[in-house]
Amino acid sequence: MDILTHTLSGVAVGTVASSFDNSGFTQKLKIILLSGIAGALPDLDAISLWSGFDSTLGTLFNLSTSGRDIYSAKFWYSHHAFLHSAVAGLLITGVLGVLFMLLGSSPKSGKKKSRLSILSKERFTLTAFFFGFLMHLIEDMPTPASTWGGVNLLWPSNTYIGGFGYIWWWNNYDIFLIVVSVIIANILLMAIGGFLDFNIKRLTVMVFTLGFILAVYQIKTRGFDFAYKGRTVKYQEYETKSKEIQKEILGEKLYTLMESFDNKLRIYF
Ligand SMILES: [Zn+2]
Repeated sequence: MDILTHTLSGVAVGTVASSFDNSGFTQKLKIILLSGIAGALPDLDAISLWSGFDSTLGTLFNLSTSGRDIYSAKFWYSHHAFLHSAVAGLLITGVLGVLFMLLGSSPKSGKKKSRLSILSKERFTLTAFFFGFLMHLIEDMPTPASTWGGVNLLWPSNTYIGGFGYIWWWNNYDIFLIVVSVIIANILLMAIGGFLDFNIKRLTVMVFTLGFILAVYQIKTRGFDFAYKGRTVKYQEYETKSKEIQKEILGEKLYTLMESFDNKLRIYF
């Protein structure tokens, strides 16, 4: 799936987590921003596609395979491998937790806080970060198998999960719009919640769950099979079809709006 939807899915997770945290605006914003970063993070393994990869990282690590081949291969550092696993999510969340403890126990921040109290204060940030990361992995599963056959969710196991081909790699405007709606609804709920007395947490969880179910429904009812293994000669055909499906779902007006937004972006969306 595209990096923008991934990032915003992390943000959506963050809106739920931040409704659980009672520590004020800055903390809530921190949760939302960090879970957004977590949503984008797994695709850092696409760095091997960078034109300077072979002459820099490739040389540094003495890699005999070119970055382009690494991307499609099944090395632990290939695309959809280690960085698309729950273990990577846990490790990076752990590193973030350690960073919080180191920064939080700095004498500059006044009274030295205990490490446990820092972790307790950041529990929603860390939970949001992990689930933002996990959302990315889940979202990559319905895309085609290609050379990987899904994502290496349970690394170090060799099993790849997903690659179902329910959706195309990008042009999933409907899913993007659902994610954006969840974010807006939850932010509005939090804003209103400051003035009224009702259970915000339950509502943000409900909005997120509803958005998730709706996205799964949309993914499962494309009415077209995008599945392919390895490489495909039908790439262009699938690309065109994915746009046709969006036109049907969104209607002419909204589709045109989304397509012009897509054309303005310099990423695959
Ligand atoms: Zn990915």
